[in-house]
Parts: sequence; structure tokens; C-alpha cells
Amino acid sequence: MKISHIEHIGIAVKSIEDSLPYYEKLLGLKCYNIETVEDQKVRTAFLKVGDVKLELLEPTSPDSSIAKFIEKHGEGMHHLAYCVEDGVVNALDEAEQAGIQLIDKAPRAGAEHLHIAFLHPKTTKGILTELCEH
Ligand code: ZN
Repeated sequence: MKISHIEHIGIAVKSIEDSLPYYEKLLGLKCYNIETVEDQKVRTAFLKVGDVKLELLEPTSPDSSIAKFIEKHGEGMHHLAYCVEDGVVNALDEAEQAGIQLIDKAPRAGAEHLHIAFLHPKTTKGILTELCEH
């Protein structure tokens, strides 16, 4: 794979409104976008830290995977997203051939007009890994 940079770090939160004061007032970061991703049942808030973004993920339904994650682990770091230069389709191919368990067999639409796909943490050394391209 050809990874250019870390696109963002996903953080599961119970409430974006309750979380933003910490990031904005204390850390001095700026939230520049909030959007809902219907098919993932999440509301996302983006903040910039240099070239990297933080993606706060708030569940919009109790059966959202983020709701289940919070139930199990509490709030906290949820996933790491890498930007792949040679495309998500190629990266998924390569991962599958290497025996990585794919959560998404094909790229789907994520927040911020990204094409994204997830790799299962069981096969990625414990990190839920998102591959994305613009
Ligand atoms: Zn993400």
C-alpha cells in the first residue's frame, strides 16, 4: 500500500455538544464541520490539529456501531484513518491477499466526501483501521 498520511483519528463520544468545550476551549482546536452520516448512524464533528483531523463520532441510534462501542469500551479512541494514494479498492485487494479481515469489501461513502473502508481490528494489531481517499 502507499499511505500518504494519517487522514484523521476517530474518537467515540456520547455527545458532540458535551465534548466540544474540551477540544475547543481547553485544547484551542476549532470545529469546522459537523455532519450526519445516515448509513453509519453517526453524527461527526471535525477538528483540525495541524494536518491531521480529529473526527468525533456521536451515535444517532442505539443500534449504531458507535453506540455499541461506547457500551463496551466507554468513550475514547475508536479508529485510525490512513489516506491511501493508490485508491481504496487496490488497498482492500492488497489487505485481503495479506489475510486481513475486511469489514467493507468495497469502498463506501464516508463523511467529508471520502471513500472509505474499514479493516477488522482482530487482524490489524488491535486498531480498527480505516482506509480512505478523496
Ligand atoms: Zn473515520
